[in-house]
Amino acid sequence: MSKFIVGLTGGIGSGKTTVANLFADLGIELVDADIIARQVVAKGSEGLQQIQQHFGASVILDTGELDRSALREKVFNEPEKRLWLNNLLHPMIRQQMLQAVENAKSIYVIMVVPLLFENGLDRLVNTTLVVDIPPHEQIARTAKRDGVDSTQVEQIINSQIDRDQRLQKADAIIDNTQTPEALRQTVQLLHQQYIDKASQDNNNE
Ligand code: ADP
Repeated sequence: MSKFIVGLTGGIGSGKTTVANLFADLGIELVDADIIARQVVAKGSEGLQQIQQHFGASVILDTGELDRSALREKVFNEPEKRLWLNNLLHPMIRQQMLQAVENAKSIYVIMVVPLLFENGLDRLVNTTLVVDIPPHEQIARTAKRDGVDSTQVEQIINSQIDRDQRLQKADAIIDNTQTPEALRQTVQLLHQQYIDKASQDNNNE
């Protein structure tokens, strides 16, 4: 029996983590792409070993962990090197995410993937849920959360899929300009819909 998967995405600072935690409060297990992306290059991992072989010891810190900024520099403006890295890591991340989904016990699973559409991971999920706020709010909330300046946030927004395109691809959209209490209620409603869909899916198998 395969799991019903909701792909949760949204631009930086839109409220993905906030929304994901509300689903978790309802007992739904989360599979977080960012966490898995870190695990596949963790100290001692197969991924890290291959990166070291390809890029050399200068991308490894004294602690044995990946030196992310050194690796970023190596692939900066080097499309072939970046491609090599993506070809190594993306299948590993995909496979680990699907494994985590299979291990999950809840009736459906939320996959939290910031670059769901950008990286084609929407193909892995049964339905997509986009958290949306206007760009000026993304900038304000992210700047406040991370203590960064608005230019840095703007750069990240520009590197992500365009807002309109993201909304067009969404099966469902959460407008996160609402209050935390209203947001909780919106999540509760969606949760009920996903339970219904997940049980329909199971009955059809
Ligand atoms: P993402 O995971 O998409 O980057 P977060 O969930 O971390 O976004 O939310 C970004 C910031 O905005 C956080 O500091 C969070 O507490 C805040 N936030 C989330 N939802 C709301 C909301 N409805 N109203 C006000 N602030 C919010």
